[in-house]
Amino acid sequence: MDIKNFINNEEHIPLSGMWMDNYDPATGKIYGEIPSSNHTDVESAYQAATKAFPSWSNTPIDTKSKILSKIADLIEENLEDLARAESKDNGKPLWLAQSVDIPRASSNFRFFAHAITQYASQSHDSTGRNTLNYTLRKPLGVVGCISPWNLPLYLFTWKIAPAIAAGNCVIAKPSEVTPVTAYLLGNICKKAGLPAGVLNIVHGTGPECGQAIVEHPGIKAISFTGGTNTGARIAATAAPMFKKLSLELGGKNPNLIFSDCDYEKMLHTTVRSSFANQGQICLCGSRIFVQEEIYDKFKKDFIKLVQELTVGHPMSSTTKVGAVVSASHRDKILDYIAFAKANPEEYTILTGGNTLQIPNYEDGYYIEPTVIEVSNNTCKLNQEEIFGPVVTLMTFKDEEEAIALANGTRYGLSATVWTENLNRSIKLGNELEAGIVWVNTWLNRDLRTAFGGVKDSGIGREGGFHALDFFTETKNICIEYK
Ligand code: NAD
Repeated sequence: MDIKNFINNEEHIPLSGMWMDNYDPATGKIYGEIPSSNHTDVESAYQAATKAFPSWSNTPIDTKSKILSKIADLIEENLEDLARAESKDNGKPLWLAQSVDIPRASSNFRFFAHAITQYASQSHDSTGRNTLNYTLRKPLGVVGCISPWNLPLYLFTWKIAPAIAAGNCVIAKPSEVTPVTAYLLGNICKKAGLPAGVLNIVHGTGPECGQAIVEHPGIKAISFTGGTNTGARIAATAAPMFKKLSLELGGKNPNLIFSDCDYEKMLHTTVRSSFANQGQICLCGSRIFVQEEIYDKFKKDFIKLVQELTVGHPMSSTTKVGAVVSASHRDKILDYIAFAKANPEEYTILTGGNTLQIPNYEDGYYIEPTVIEVSNNTCKLNQEEIFGPVVTLMTFKDEEEAIALANGTRYGLSATVWTENLNRSIKLGNELEAGIVWVNTWLNRDLRTAFGGVKDSGIGREGGFHALDFFTETKNICIEYK
């Protein structure tokens, strides 16, 4: 499948004439070409977006809401095709794309179709001073949305939906590793009646195409999800230009398991929070800390369940763990495993640790779900984001030690706590350094809630009105009346 840029509601080949290969992670084979766009394509998208802005920003809320709802409907109608495309492009199990990725992409549009009808601004009546202040929330203009490969359409739409709902025009770049569903989205939006130029999708590499979006002087804000190093690079470019920035970055999330937890629920959820999407979810709990009393039992039970996970071709209904996204990402994960094997005084591989050859798909990027026992929290594997099917295990004594271990990292995206003790859950909710703390659950999302990280996991919040706040500029009007 060859994909094109989507600019002004039309498909365009890259102006540079340059293309890149797109790989199927399940087979390791090339199955299409992607535009390798540069600043000239971004400029063309910018011109289309600028032209569309006056009309789109003045479009009545009801009309915008209807178009967003229609996009949500069309994503639902095309669920099967989109799920197959996502699974093939990313390597994730088809059932996961069918049950999570694509339904959530539809929900993102439906949610913001509704949210924009409820979004309001404030007024302050200064009684006795004959003064009325009222606040406007104006769309910013042309904004940039840049997303990663792990949840391709899910995260792409999580940015685009609030941006256009708030009246902006968008230049969006999906990851060059997983571009296909973003390409398919362009035509869905056109079919739903989104006017030309409101959404423009350019494909290409981060350093060339992504950087051109970040550097463009006319683009007012950048909403970015991806790695922490990339986030730092984007901030270094955009901050001196005084662009609004929302950065959703990496994580190394702790999973704290206390001996008083609901054991069976914890055990099964922990298998999911470790290996869902091949461990390539920014919210996966990759550092598992278990209270001493139940450590040996947990280790035995957890390893048994992990060994039962079927690794296989993403389209097979029995597959629980598919292929990791790319050859380079596979190699990065294998480097961490090799480091653990080379340092047995710090690491013990409890299960996994090897690549897998799936019959007929020997060149696919498959890695066994891997569990590694670590001797301390300062080790490389507990400090660096691996972002694959690898988790570490370690014990703790009490609440204080659990909090210190959980917070002992540069990251602060999410944390999960397993306990039946109400007071403990409130204490940990207060003290854990994370943007999201889950207690006795994981990946449980209400789209109205704030989403984002602290420390090196990012700045800014997405979700609900937070996203609409980001994609609007506040203006206060002060009137003194007689
Ligand atoms: P990445 O940082 O390599 O790339 C993300 C996007 O940024 C891609 O579209 C890429 O082309 C683009 N990009 C790269 N360099 C750029 C530059 N200089 N200027 C502009 N754009 C540039 O990340 P990835 O490997 O695609 O994704 C994995 C990372 O994303 C992990 O660190 C993961 O934790 C993180 N992530 C975070 C969240 C969150 O919500 N916090 C969600 C999902 C993934």
